Amino acid sequence: MHGKQYQLSKSLFIRGLQCHKSLYLQKFQPELKEEVTPEKQRLFDSGSNVGLLAQQLFPGGVNVPYEGLSYTEQIERTQSLIQQGVDTIYEAAFSYQGVFVKCDILHLGSDGWAIYEVKSSAKVEEYQLNDVSLQHYVVSGTGLPVKKAFLVHINTKYIRHGDIEVDKLFAIIDATDITKEKRDFIKDELEKQLNMLDGDEPVIDIGAHCDNPFSCDFKSHCWSHIPSPSVFDYRGTGKPNSFQLYQKGIIRLEDVPSDMLGRRTKIQHEGMLYQKNHINVAALNKFLESFWYPLCFMDFETTFMVPVPMYDGMRPYQQVPFQFSVHVQQEPDGKLEHYEYLSDGVKNPQSEFIDRLLAVIPRDACIVTWNQGFEISRLREIATAFPDKRDIINHIINNIRDLMKPFQSMTVYNWQFNGSYSIKAVLPALVPELSYDDLEINNGGTASSAWVCLVQTNDAGEKETIRKQLLQYCHMDTLAMVRILEKMKEMAI
Ligand code: SF4
Repeated sequence: MHGKQYQLSKSLFIRGLQCHKSLYLQKFQPELKEEVTPEKQRLFDSGSNVGLLAQQLFPGGVNVPYEGLSYTEQIERTQSLIQQGVDTIYEAAFSYQGVFVKCDILHLGSDGWAIYEVKSSAKVEEYQLNDVSLQHYVVSGTGLPVKKAFLVHINTKYIRHGDIEVDKLFAIIDATDITKEKRDFIKDELEKQLNMLDGDEPVIDIGAHCDNPFSCDFKSHCWSHIPSPSVFDYRGTGKPNSFQLYQKGIIRLEDVPSDMLGRRTKIQHEGMLYQKNHINVAALNKFLESFWYPLCFMDFETTFMVPVPMYDGMRPYQQVPFQFSVHVQQEPDGKLEHYEYLSDGVKNPQSEFIDRLLAVIPRDACIVTWNQGFEISRLREIATAFPDKRDIINHIINNIRDLMKPFQSMTVYNWQFNGSYSIKAVLPALVPELSYDDLEINNGGTASSAWVCLVQTNDAGEKETIRKQLLQYCHMDTLAMVRILEKMKEMAI
């Protein structure tokens, strides 16, 4: 370990700002933490890639690595580089009053030393201002005159053309004044955190802070007294304030006064408690009347929202559609036709994707999607990139109907949905004979990761396996919609 002289790091301080108990547990009982999910890991990884890219804003700097060096050695290395006259240091290390910090970029400009804190987010968040303010406090405290402090984040207006232009990909925000304003706050909070760590585990109950600004990784520990189901399982708009109920000692559903529940929550409540289903036949019929033949069930798979655009013409965080599945039914009870596309990822898939899609959608078809906003957003992005296709894409968008709506509005509710209206929750409840469970890839996040593997691997066998798995998954998404619509029609009679 690194010794008691470095009691806090930047990330521990930010953790402590969210909740002192979280900081305490991280220090003394880290084994109680939940495992890092693949989604979170991907987020961390994309953050470190962005950090490396941002170093090119100040090329030629010297890195002070974490690996192989103790905290003390990193601090000594940083001091030695400053004394040698190095004007750009990546991952510069400092310690002051028991706090160890690493600055993403420390640069000596014409105004003097400046700290640049790099974030992969699209906008500045409050915790980031606290982060850079802590750095300013610590680095200045060591005696280095810091004239400026900046936050570097992703500029979402940037559009990639050729190699990444780092000066355009990043937006640099001057946070110097804020760091000065926050100085006393940082000093007081540091003192509080260090005192707290010298005492017993703080007594802090669960609350909204468990998810703000981050979902705390000690939730499975702190929330273990909450039964399932509980007042925290209500979902969607109109749900009661679960923490207010909790603070009144109302945790179990049985104890919730029914006059506290609105229409939607009541349906969910009775589903969780009595396994009761709900259907508004008149509203369902009205919804189904808005469909016509040919029916075209359509689903897209896209890349993750990554900060650095993968292809020319793309913005940061833009999701690239790389796959679709389409099931077409020309007439009631007609045979199902299936069409699909999966890009090899060699170049931006958008152009081939839209050409193949337009070729299989019957003219004037009723396009059925699940959560239409997602598909519509991708189509609008493609229409912007290919103005010659704008009219036909707009025509398709106008013909889209969202099969999710009756579930979202609770026109149809099955207790097994558990408050969710995701297709992954609706399908097993309404069409139990069809399941995602047997598929190797069974959610959008895994599909995105798998596609990246497919693009990157040189192993032909692995490529073929992933390809088959992706095709099976996307096929299931549209087939699920076909079967759910059939069930809805049965329910509407
Ligand atoms: S789960 Fe909530 S109460 Fe527990 S440590 Fe995390 S933030 Fe604090």
